[in-house]
Amino acid sequence: TAKQRSAGAVVYHAAFDKASEQSLSLLTELRNAVERNEFRLFVQPKIMLGTGKAVGAEALVRWAHPERGNVFPDQFIPFAEQTGFIRVLTRWVMEQSAILAHELAARGLNLKISVNLSTRDLMDQDLPVKFADILARHQLGPSAFCLEITESAIMDDPVRAQQTLERLHEMGLDLSIDDFGTGYSSLAYLKRLPVNELKIDKSFVLNMENDIGDTKIVRSTIDLGHNMGLRVVAEGIESEAVWRLLMRMGCDQGQGYFMSRPIPADQLAAWLENWRP
Ligand code: C2E
Ligand code: CA
Ligand code: CA
Ligand code: CA
Repeated sequence: TAKQRSAGAVVYHAAFDKASEQSLSLLTELRNAVERNEFRLFVQPKIMLGTGKAVGAEALVRWAHPERGNVFPDQFIPFAEQTGFIRVLTRWVMEQSAILAHELAARGLNLKISVNLSTRDLMDQDLPVKFADILARHQLGPSAFCLEITESAIMDDPVRAQQTLERLHEMGLDLSIDDFGTGYSSLAYLKRLPVNELKIDKSFVLNMENDIGDTKIVRSTIDLGHNMGLRVVAEGIESEAVWRLLMRMGCDQGQGYFMSRPIPADQLAAWLENWRP
C-alpha cells in the first residue's frame, strides 16, 4: 500500500488513490443516472439558411444532477469516453432521438435528428446493428438520422472508423464531419469517407463578421464542401449578420443561439410551431 513506500511516493499514491476514487464514484454516478432517469435530451434546430425552414435538430445530452443541477456534456462526455460508458449513453441518446423522430413524424414534421458519435462508438462493431434495431422498433427510415463524427474520432483508428462508417452509410444513414477544421484530419480522409455533410466548427463562425481570417476559412470550407458534393452546415450563429453573411457565401444550413439555444426535446414541436425566420 501507499504507506509502505517512501515519503515522496506516499504523497503521489495518496493523490492517485483520491483521483481514482473520484473517478470510480463518477462512473458509479453515471451508471445510476441512467437508471434514475437523470439524463435529458436537448435539441438544437438546424435551419436552411436560404429559406429559414427547420429541417433537422441536433441531439445534445444534459445531465439533470440531483445536487449539481444541469450538468453540461463537457463535464462528463470526455470521462464517459475514457471509461467506455459512452456506449451506454450513445445508446440512450439514439433511443430518445428515435422516440422524438417518431413523434415529430406523427405530426407531419420530418426532421432529421443528428446524433453525436464518439471514437468508442465507431470502434463498436455492433453499432450498425444497434441502429438497424432502433429504426425497426420505432418504425423509422434511415433518413430519420444523421450521425455526427469528429475528425479526431476518425483519426484515432481510421481503418476501423471507415469500416463502421461505410456500413452505416450503406444502411442509408447520413454522415456528417463535426467540428471541421479543428482536428488534424487530412483531406485524404474527407475524400475516402462516405460523408454527406460537413459542419464548420463554431470557433470560425462566432465572430466571423469581425475577423477577416475566419471569413476566409469559412468561405473556403463552404467551397471545399460543395466541390466535394457535400451539404455544408455552420454552427455557432449568434447574430443575424452572421446568418446573412453565411447565406451570401452559399452555406446550406446553420444552427446557433440566434435561432435557438438547445431546448428540451419535448419543447421542439412547440418551438417549430412558433418559429418565424
Ligand atoms: P458539438 O457537437 O460541437 O455541439 C455544439 C455545441 O455548441 C453544443 O454545446 C451547443 O449547445 C453549442 N452551441 C450551439 N449554438 C451555439 C452558439 O450560437 N454559440 C455558442 N457559443 N455555442 C453554441 P453542448 O451542448 O454544451 O455540447 C458540447 C459538446 O459535447 C458537443 O459539441 C459534443 O461534442 C458533446 N456532446 C453533447 N451531447 C453529446 C452526445 O449525446 N454524445 C456525444 N458523444 N457527445 C455529445
Ligand atoms: Ca455535434
Ligand atoms: Ca460541432
Ligand atoms: Ca465541438
